[in-house]
Amino acid sequence: MPVIRTLQSLIAIALLLGVTSAWSGEVRSLRVWAGPDSTRAVLDLDQKVDYRLFTLDDPARVVIDIDRVSVERALSLDEEHSGVIRRVRHGVRDGDNLRVVLDLEDQARPQSFLLAPAGEYGHRLVVDLYPEDAQSPQERVREAVEPAMDGERDMIVAIDAGHGGEDPGAIGPSGTYEKTVVLALSRELQAQINEEPGMRAVLIRTGDYYIPLEERYERARKARADLFLSIHADAFRDFRVRGSSVYVLSRRGASSEAARRLANSENRSDLVGGVKLDREDDVLSSVLLDLSQNVAMEYSTEAAEAILGQLARVGKQHRERVERANFVVLRSPDVPSVLVEVGFISNPSDEANLKTGSHRRQVAGAIVNGVRRHFFDTAPHGTWIAANRAGSRHIVERGDTLGVIAQRYRTSVSRIRQANDIEGDTIHPGAVLVIPAGS
Ligand SMILES: [Zn+2]
Repeated sequence: MPVIRTLQSLIAIALLLGVTSAWSGEVRSLRVWAGPDSTRAVLDLDQKVDYRLFTLDDPARVVIDIDRVSVERALSLDEEHSGVIRRVRHGVRDGDNLRVVLDLEDQARPQSFLLAPAGEYGHRLVVDLYPEDAQSPQERVREAVEPAMDGERDMIVAIDAGHGGEDPGAIGPSGTYEKTVVLALSRELQAQINEEPGMRAVLIRTGDYYIPLEERYERARKARADLFLSIHADAFRDFRVRGSSVYVLSRRGASSEAARRLANSENRSDLVGGVKLDREDDVLSSVLLDLSQNVAMEYSTEAAEAILGQLARVGKQHRERVERANFVVLRSPDVPSVLVEVGFISNPSDEANLKTGSHRRQVAGAIVNGVRRHFFDTAPHGTWIAANRAGSRHIVERGDTLGVIAQRYRTSVSRIRQANDIEGDTIHPGAVLVIPAGS
């Protein structure tokens, strides 16, 4: 009995304290990430809160009422990166509640949710602001890559720079963020791919903001990508570990304990980057998913092996074989998907390399070589590559030289001579040349 009585009085005291400020929380800061499709406002909290959110017109604003919290330091905006948010105001309401008002440039549709602590962050209240009656990101991607109806289409590579916004990814010993170097590398990759005849690249993430993992591959599907490349940089507690590695999806177990751990850590991105978790399930039935995934898996593995082989030529490799694990971002049912860890950002020399443009050009060049090789093997009928790869025929046009033709088909002048029994350099317009394989 005495024990219970003590407990009761403790609870009574606790309840009393609760009415005063002892139980109230604090808003520590406001961060804003502006992407091309939405603006995200994140309030950092020291505990889980109850809140209500509503919008008001003329002028457009979002009002967030949070129960029993105060503001540690006045919330402010970095105006250059504030997206649709023009101004932030806040004040005390009903004694110990907080009202935060986001004044907007334009009417926006808010979607809000709470996030539990993850990575370096504590509790967070996330408010995503979508422009009203805007095109969906998928529609925009589709428009950007709508193929020309006449002639042979390009093979499309969707490049996914890992992490972004709230989610910095791994952090190097001198403070380099994975999200920053992988975006720089992805841009380099995009530029190099766009210089390739018959190939075109689409960037899934174009700036410093977070995209949920599922949405990344959905965007690639909507862009009708022939290949999805997710670009990352690894980290390990032993800073001596370095080099690149290449992964494909496995839904049944991982090829190694390290691969399983890596997939788990990459999959945590959604918790750190911020995704509302009660999303609808996949509409595809699991049977259908399995069938198309088998085909995509074959191509994924082939592409991964081609990329791995080329990466081996330009730097140290961490894994000499393609590894498999259950990466969420690689779960596209019909787009062959490969994840490349371009090095260990936790290794000082990999970190330093990844920060230099020349190294990124080299790594991107190796990846493009692998992709080209894969596409020249697998490009379907109707693509420029299928029409122009080895074994195809070239009709000589006015102005063609053997050198130009060899370059276009990535073979050599001597091989063309040999395949067509030509001596010297004379070719006549209208003549049909057999294009041999290899250079
Ligand atoms: Zn990563």
